[in-house]
Amino acid sequence: MGRKFFVGGNWKCNGTPEEVKKIVSVLNEGQVPSSDVVEVVVSPPFLFLGLVKSSLRPDFHVAAQNCWVKKGGAFTGEISAEMLVNLGIPWVILGHSERRLILNESNEFVGDKVAYALSQGLKVIACVGETLEQREAGSTMDVVAAQTKAIADRVSSWSNIVLAYEPVWAIGTGKVATPAQAQEVHFELRKWLFANTSPEIAAATRIIYGGSVNGANCKELAAQPDVDGFLVGGASLKPEFIDIIKSAE
Ligand code: PEP
Repeated sequence: MGRKFFVGGNWKCNGTPEEVKKIVSVLNEGQVPSSDVVEVVVSPPFLFLGLVKSSLRPDFHVAAQNCWVKKGGAFTGEISAEMLVNLGIPWVILGHSERRLILNESNEFVGDKVAYALSQGLKVIACVGETLEQREAGSTMDVVAAQTKAIADRVSSWSNIVLAYEPVWAIGTGKVATPAQAQEVHFELRKWLFANTSPEIAAATRIIYGGSVNGANCKELAAQPDVDGFLVGGASLKPEFIDIIKSAE
């Protein structure tokens, strides 16, 4: 089963309206492979979702960077999945390591969020990944399996989930995983899905890599058989994001 290449741009907590307009115009002018070949999703901060959605080319889509774990209500400062759906935002990033580590989001909380977002009709980029300490202790696979299990325990269909493997030590550090390191974990994650969900889910779920991907290293990573795309932070705010999208070819 073919897995369409997926490139996500996580803008994190960056940008002024002027900067956002500039990034959107670079994206709108970029020559990229057709949407039959690559699915592109950019994720601005909540405040800019409307602006980006209304000005972005129609073949690219928009994701929120988070949403609340259940139905909206008395949760000051939160944004609900229902609100995103009402705004016409199709995707949400959940479980990013910055939220897991800085805001103490547990595996179970992230799993609950994924299940709730899916139940409301959102598509989810679900992030997993180990810290440097965990990698050095040899527990990479245990960590990402536990993070993935907390999702698998709560969802029955994976057709609206893209799994992002993002080693924490590679995020925003300029220290990219080698293609072999990325392939090894992606292969193991796919094996885990095979054993714990179904062969069909394992074959169809896109597993994308994130962590210091840029225009120079994307080709080699994209050539790995189990790397189905990227989640890009820093470089998604730069014109080289177009080169990363082109690595789908
Ligand atoms: C990210 O934040 O998801 C990410 C991968 O960041 P960067 O590309 O900057 O390492």
